[in-house]
Amino acid sequence: MLVTTHLFTPGPTHMPEAVRRAIDVPLQDHRAPDFHKLVLPLQEDLKKIFRTESGEILLFAGSGTSGWDASLANCLSPGDKVLTASYGHFSDLWIAMCKQHKLEVEVIEGAWGEAAPIAEYAKRLAADTNHEIKAVLVCHNETATGVTSDVAALRAAMDKVNHSALLMVDGVSSIGALEFRMDDWGVDLAVCGSQKGFMMPTGLCILGVSQKALKASEVAENPRGFFDFKGLLNQYKGGYFPYTPATTLLHGLAQSCLMILEEGLDNVHARQFRLAEGVRRAVQAWGLELCSRRPEVHSDTVTAILVPEGFDSNDVLKTAYNDYNLSLAAGLSKVAGKVFRIGHMGAVDELMLLGALATTEMVLNDVGINVTLGSGVVAAQKYYRESKQAEPQKA
Ligand code: PLP
Repeated sequence: MLVTTHLFTPGPTHMPEAVRRAIDVPLQDHRAPDFHKLVLPLQEDLKKIFRTESGEILLFAGSGTSGWDASLANCLSPGDKVLTASYGHFSDLWIAMCKQHKLEVEVIEGAWGEAAPIAEYAKRLAADTNHEIKAVLVCHNETATGVTSDVAALRAAMDKVNHSALLMVDGVSSIGALEFRMDDWGVDLAVCGSQKGFMMPTGLCILGVSQKALKASEVAENPRGFFDFKGLLNQYKGGYFPYTPATTLLHGLAQSCLMILEEGLDNVHARQFRLAEGVRRAVQAWGLELCSRRPEVHSDTVTAILVPEGFDSNDVLKTAYNDYNLSLAAGLSKVAGKVFRIGHMGAVDELMLLGALATTEMVLNDVGINVTLGSGVVAAQKYYRESKQAEPQKA
């Protein structure tokens, strides 16, 4: 049994030692008179990271998927119409969940490797003059294809026709790592989990909820069970939970927020771009293609790489794991066997990525994809050296 795997999946991500130590605390009484001293500042720090002043940040035990559930359950009623697009594994899973919630789903067929088709959203929203669409859903960072979409442009399309729908955004692999502006982009539901940009174990669903969404939740009729916003908020505003919270994870999250805010959000985004760009330069030097079709939409948290025709990307994954103790991520559904992914979000740096790239070069050769050993590493090294001065100073 391997004790340590070199983890380069796009969630879970590397957990910094400071976060691990923050989690390693004695269990405590979540009804103790001073428990709110942990929860209330945490809510404030999360607001800064989601960039919301007017919204609430709700925490549930769960993963990112439960955030989709919570959003649909609280803010919509059976039969409500939602507009969304299919352009990757996670946008598709959200569509499937909408159907489970008995929503009427209008799906725009997008392309894998492309971003959310904003122009088509705009067309459908403009045609919906009676505002039958109650929510517009978009996956900000499609982790399966390594593509980031323009949420601000989607908001602009909604505003252009004064559309009243709620804007629900999957920020599971973006928030905490990529630029995300809940208030400026008019996001009503922002969904995240703890195990990606927040560098934590899985186990917390972190949800940004606008005042408009909270109002919608008062009249919506979908059953919400455990995820009831109102039930949570009654106690949560005072720093408590109506159920037993994962106290140790809350300590870890407080530490990860501290680290993100100390580095500064803009610096985090710049670092994520720089690290990702080094990986992209390596892929180019190998002569391989990205799944993402255009530089403007390349994700800075995950890079999805196409293996050449005739190869199976699962062989890359197995060899990496079995022979080198390296966890890369698989291609999912439509791109299964065609893509492997390198996650580079959260607590990563040049040294770690150069190691992952060097090992990936060995793996590719082992499975018969003959890239020149060292070519990707050199391309990334060159880029990291030349872009070093340009990195913003730490806050
Ligand atoms: N949305 C996106 C974009 C994701 O990348 C993932 C997981 O990788 C999910 C949703 C589902 O989140 P979870 O696995 O935490 O439930």
